[in-house]
Amino acid sequence: MDNRIYKIKDSVDLFLNDNIFLTAYFMNTRKRKTFKVNNVLVKLLEQLDGERNITQLSEYMVKEYDVAFEDVLASIEHLNSSGIITEKVQDHLINETTRTRYNRQINYFSEFFDDEKQAEIAQQKLIDAKVLIFGSGAIGGNIAIQLAMAGVTHFTLFDYDKVEPSDIARHLYFSYATVGMYKVEALKNYLNKINPKIIVDTVNQALYPEADIEELVKGKSFVVNTLDEPYIGYTSAKISRICVKYDIPHFIGGGFDAHLASTGELVIPHITPCADCYVTHFTESLKGWKPKKHPVKNRSDQIGGLASMSLFSSSYATMEIIKTITNIVDMRKDYKVRGELMFKDFSLNYLTVKKDPNCAVCGKDATL
Ligand SMILES: [Zn+2]
Repeated sequence: MDNRIYKIKDSVDLFLNDNIFLTAYFMNTRKRKTFKVNNVLVKLLEQLDGERNITQLSEYMVKEYDVAFEDVLASIEHLNSSGIITEKVQDHLINETTRTRYNRQINYFSEFFDDEKQAEIAQQKLIDAKVLIFGSGAIGGNIAIQLAMAGVTHFTLFDYDKVEPSDIARHLYFSYATVGMYKVEALKNYLNKINPKIIVDTVNQALYPEADIEELVKGKSFVVNTLDEPYIGYTSAKISRICVKYDIPHFIGGGFDAHLASTGELVIPHITPCADCYVTHFTESLKGWKPKKHPVKNRSDQIGGLASMSLFSSSYATMEIIKTITNIVDMRKDYKVRGELMFKDFSLNYLTVKKDPNCAVCGKDATL
C-alpha cells in the first residue's frame, strides 16, 4: 500500500485547451508552464481529491479508465516534478490551531518547495527564531510587529526612549494611552496583543560605544539594527562586527532621514557586504569629494517624511528577514544590496556595493 496522498497546489491555476494542452499558472511566482497532456493525465487531475492515497487512486483509475498502473504513477511523478501537485502532509509538524492561524502563509511558502511539509518546516523556523531588534521606533517597531504577525515568538527589544506625542503620527502601535511609556514596553504590549504566547525581553538603555552587547547578540537567529542615535553608521558597525563574529544574519534599517524610503541592508556574514564593507564602498565612492559647507542657518533639524515610507522600509526588511530565516529563497545567491525607493516615480534603485575581499571584519584576513 502506497499511503502517500497528493493534492493540486492551492496556488496553481490550471487551464485545459482542446484536451491536449494543459497550462499551469503559478500565482505566487507568476510563472506559466504549458504541457502536452494525454487522457490519463487529464482524468488523473480530475480525480486528485487530496483524500485517496496513491494505491486507492491508481486502482480507481485502472478500473474506471482501463489505463495501465505504471502510467498513473508516471503521471503523478510528472505532475509532482512540475510543481503542480504536492504531497499532502499527514503527520503535521505544527498543531492544528497554529496551522489554522498561518494557513495562508504556509500555502504561500509551499509554492517554493516540492512538498508541503517543507512549508511547515519554514513556518516552524519562524516560530523558533530568536530575534533581537535594536530600536523600537518606526522601522524597528514595524519590523517587530510584522515578524510577530508572521509567527516569530521570541523577541528582545532594545531602546532607551519614551513615547512622545509626535510619535503617534508615525507609528501604528503608539497611542495617547502610551505617551510617556518606555517604547520597548509599549511595543511589548502591542506584540502580546497579536499573540499572547510571544516572549519579549526588553533592554531599556541606549547603545553606548562601550556597551557590551556581545552576550545579548550571541545565540540569536537574527539581529536587526534601527538605532540611528548617535549615528546609524556607528551603531551598525558595532552590531554588525559582533554578528559577523558569531555568523548571525542581520539587517540594518533606519537612519533614513536623508533617504526616507531606503530598503536597508541585509547582511549575511561572509556572503553579502557587511557594515564595514559599506563604509569602504562609500569612502571610495566619495573620494576627492570635499565640498565646502554652505553657511545656511536656521534650518529645521528634522527632515520631513511620510509614515508610509517607513512602513515601506520596514515591510521590505521584514520580507528579507522572513526569506533569510525560513530559507524559502536562497538568499546566499539572491541577496540584494541597499536600494532606495524614489517616491516620485516609484523606481527602486540599488547600489553597486560589493563585498570587500580585504574587509577587516568579513574579509579573508579579518582582523577585527
Ligand atoms: Zn565586510
